Amino acid sequence: MENKFQFYNTLTRKVETIVPHEDGKIAMYTCGPTVYHYAHIGNLRSYIMEDILEKSLRYVGYDVKRVMNITDVGHLSSDADTGEDKMLKGAKREHKTVMEIAKFYTDAFFEDCKKLNIKTPDVVEPATNCIPEFIHMVEVLLEKDYAYVAGGNVYFDTSKLEDYYVFSSQSEKELLVGVRDDVEEDENKKNKNDFVLWFTKSKFEDQALKWDSPWGVGYPGWHIECSCISMKHLGEYMDIHCGGVDNIFPHHTNEIAQSESYLGHKWCNYWFHVNHLNDKSGKMSKSKGDFLTVSLLQEKGYDPIVYRMFCLQSHYRKPLEFSYEVLDNVSAAYAKLVKKIADLKADGAVDEAQFAEYKEKFADALSNDLNTSMAITIVYDLLKADMNDATKLALIKDFDYVLSLNLTTAQVAKPEENQSVDAELEQYILAKIEERKEAKKAKDFAKADAIRDELLAKGIVIKDTREGVIWHVQ
Ligand code: AMP
Ligand code: ZN
Repeated sequence: MENKFQFYNTLTRKVETIVPHEDGKIAMYTCGPTVYHYAHIGNLRSYIMEDILEKSLRYVGYDVKRVMNITDVGHLSSDADTGEDKMLKGAKREHKTVMEIAKFYTDAFFEDCKKLNIKTPDVVEPATNCIPEFIHMVEVLLEKDYAYVAGGNVYFDTSKLEDYYVFSSQSEKELLVGVRDDVEEDENKKNKNDFVLWFTKSKFEDQALKWDSPWGVGYPGWHIECSCISMKHLGEYMDIHCGGVDNIFPHHTNEIAQSESYLGHKWCNYWFHVNHLNDKSGKMSKSKGDFLTVSLLQEKGYDPIVYRMFCLQSHYRKPLEFSYEVLDNVSAAYAKLVKKIADLKADGAVDEAQFAEYKEKFADALSNDLNTSMAITIVYDLLKADMNDATKLALIKDFDYVLSLNLTTAQVAKPEENQSVDAELEQYILAKIEERKEAKKAKDFAKADAIRDELLAKGIVIKDTREGVIWHVQ
C-alpha cells in the first residue's frame, strides 16, 4: 500500500513515514491508565491525541489493531520502583478493596472516554489477567541472564545492554545517569537503573494483591505489564507504541530493554509521545490531588467535546497550558461552528471532484505529523468555499470520523436567557460578572477563575457566549 503518513518517532528523533511490518496493517499499543483515581484532563489529552492517531491511520486506509492495558497492580508511587503501590494508596484513601477501586476507576475512565468520543481500543487487558505471562517473561529473562534475584526480588540487569538509554542523545545520557538522585536507593540493585520485574519483598507488607511465583509470593513490576500484554495480543513485532512524554523514561526505556532481551530482536519501530497538559503550577498530575476532571468541566457548564476541540487546536508535541479563558474561547467558537453546519441544507448532489480534493487536503494535514489545527482550519475553509451544501455536509461528516467533534449532530444552542432570581441575588451575580470581566481585561485569569469558582460554590453557573455572559442557578 502506498502511503505517506508521517509522524515524529521519538526513537529516531525524526518525522518519519510509517512503514509497518505487515503491508496495510498497523499493530498499535497504548499504555493504559493506572486506575487508582479519576483520569485528569491531562491524561485525557494523551488519550485524545492517540485516538486521533488511530483514527487518522484508519482514515488513510490502514487496518489498525490497537491494544491497551489497564494498570491495576505494580505501579508504585514513583515510576522508579519506590513508594507504595498506587492502587493500594487509592484503596486506603477510600476504604475499599483494591479490586473495587480498580473496577470503579476503570468504569469512570471509559465514561470519560465516551464523553470525549475516544474510541475504546480493540483489546483492553487488565494487568491482573496476565500473571502467568509476566512470570514466563521473567523466567526467560533469568535464563538468558538478563535478570538476577536479590533480596527476594527479581531485577533486570541494565548493565547487560550496550545501549540502555535508547531514547536519548549522548549528552542527555550523561544527565540521565543521575536522574534518580532524589530517589531512595534500593540496596539490592547492582546498577542504579536496574528495575524490578517481580517483587516478593517490599516495604509494604500489606500489598493486597499477591500471586505465587517461582521466587515466592509477590506481584509484578509495572514495566513488565506493557511488554507482555502487547506481545500477547500483537505478537513479537509492534509498529507503534504510544504514551505521554513522562513515559519515555523510565517506563518505555525499560519496556524496550526487557522486551528486546526477551525476544532477541528489535521490537517496536515507532514511538509516539504526547506532550503534557500543564496548569498554572506545572504538569497536571494525579498525585497532586487537586486536578481537573471531565466531570468537573461539565459541572462548570462545558460540553466535554469543547475540551476535545481545545486539544485538537494545538500540536500534540507542544506542552499545552490549560486555562478557562482559552476554553471559553473554544466553547464560543465551537457553538458558532456547529450552528453554521446546522444551517447547511443537504439538497443537491455531492460534487465528487471537490469532495476528493478536500478529502486529500484533510488527509495531508493529518499525515503531516498529525496537524490537527490545520485539519480544523480545513473545516472552516470548506465552509467558506464555493461549494454546494450537500458536498460541504458530506465532507464534514467524513472528517468527523477522525475529529469526532459531533460536528453534524451537536445540539445547536438556543439563544439563552438568564434565569429570573430575586433582585438582591441578581445584583450580586451581575457585580461578580463585572468583576470577572475586569480581571480578564487585566489578564488576571487566576482571579477570573476564582470568581467563577466562587459563584459555582453558591450553585451559580456562568457561561460565556457570543452574546455575553449568561448564568443560571443550579
Ligand atoms: P497514568 O494513569 O498515570 O498511568 O497515565 C496515563 C497516561 O497519561 C500516560 O500515557 C501518561 O504519560 C499520560 N499523562 C500523565 N500526565 C499527563 C499530563 N499532564 N498531560 C498529558 N498526558 C499525561
Ligand atoms: Zn506502558
